[in-house]
Amino acid sequence: MFADSTKLYVKAGNGGDGAISFRREKYVPAGGPDGGDGGKGGDIVFVTAENLNTLADLRFKHKFLAPNGENGKGGKMYGKSGEDLIIKVPKGTVIKDAESGKIIKDMSDDEPFILAKGGKGGWGNRHFATPTRQCPRFARPGIPGEEREVILELKLIADVGLIGFPNVGKSTLLSSVSGARPKIANYHFTTLTPSLGVVSLDAEQSFVMADIPGIIEGASDGLGLGHEFLRHIERCRLLLHIVDVSGCEGRNPIEDFETINKELTAFSPLLASCPQVVAGNKADLLTEPEQAQAFRRYLEEKGIAYYEISAATRTGMKELLYGIYGRIKDLPPVKVYESEYEDIPKEIPKAEDVTVQKYDHLYIVEGDWLLKLMRGINFDDYESLQYFQKVLKVSGIIDKLRQAGIQEGDTVSMYDFEFDFVL
Ligand code: GDP
Ligand code: MG
Repeated sequence: MFADSTKLYVKAGNGGDGAISFRREKYVPAGGPDGGDGGKGGDIVFVTAENLNTLADLRFKHKFLAPNGENGKGGKMYGKSGEDLIIKVPKGTVIKDAESGKIIKDMSDDEPFILAKGGKGGWGNRHFATPTRQCPRFARPGIPGEEREVILELKLIADVGLIGFPNVGKSTLLSSVSGARPKIANYHFTTLTPSLGVVSLDAEQSFVMADIPGIIEGASDGLGLGHEFLRHIERCRLLLHIVDVSGCEGRNPIEDFETINKELTAFSPLLASCPQVVAGNKADLLTEPEQAQAFRRYLEEKGIAYYEISAATRTGMKELLYGIYGRIKDLPPVKVYESEYEDIPKEIPKAEDVTVQKYDHLYIVEGDWLLKLMRGINFDDYESLQYFQKVLKVSGIIDKLRQAGIQEGDTVSMYDFEFDFVL
């Protein structure tokens, strides 16, 4: 079986700890604090790979840990950063939060996406040296890397999705009009992995066609193959419905057409409402011409475009492809799913959950939710910063600092963010 959905746990690397160290050298009078910062932990990065059409590579591996940053050292030495961990997925993979099912990212462009950020390294003690605090005997630990549990779902990026019963010639059609080489065989369920092919009419006109495993009757009720494959074509712009009109296998084209459409509706009304073009295939073997004619009339009455073809001899292929191209030109582009996921805590947390440590005129504030909150804040953005300040006030952190004895002009240090306290 092929994999088009999988669950992963990812954890980015932790930041290395900052060092506490002092320069001690004979005959050097000004030996000061020289503890270096910890290195940054590696990110978990998703990239798309053109040559992948399934998530099969991730079938047996469900846990990905990026390396941690190294600790800082004396002599102002930075710790080495952990390397990013790259996970390759097929284009069209949708990353969802495992718990809420919300979409985090649709991997449908070529941009790499950082799913979990590595923690920043903690500051070494030399960071905390000031004219009045010459011997800081403390440094900061590294920030833990983000961790996430996600579900990956493959929803191929294609203009045209092929649908139809198994064995009607979908794979044959795709291979005869594109460079794709799907498996072709004369038995049902030949196609177990989706294939994508580029159909080029000429230098400028082309579209992408997807062949997915065939649907069988009852698939939408979870019976056997089919259901899960339909997800692949959910964002196609047009469906090409292939029907065997030869009469060779004793099939009735009208019945087949209606059965598949019923399955589509049961799986997803949205998918069922996608425009369809119909191709009557295996016309080279027509044994029941009347049946084929009746099918043509049936579709004409419904106003559905119909092309009689033979994928094997390529008869009628040109008309079909130009017909399809003419249709998709006017259809909306392939859908890209917007992110629905917000990582900033919704409820304003309480000051009890944070700790305040005091060193001279420096106040170090830490707490799990504070860290989480700060990851979502863009400190270069005015509004984001305003929001952050508001949370500090509403949560009672400012009061807590006051109780700890903070004075105007003292420094507040929150992970890698520092500011002077103003009353
Ligand atoms: P799929 O299951 O819909 O992908 O069907 P395949 O493309 O694997 O084709 C099933 C069988 O039908 C294979 O043996 C093909 O060679 C055959 N076939 C496909 N198209 C045609 C056609 O136009 N004419 C004839 N005679 N056979 C065809
Ligand atoms: Mg096939």
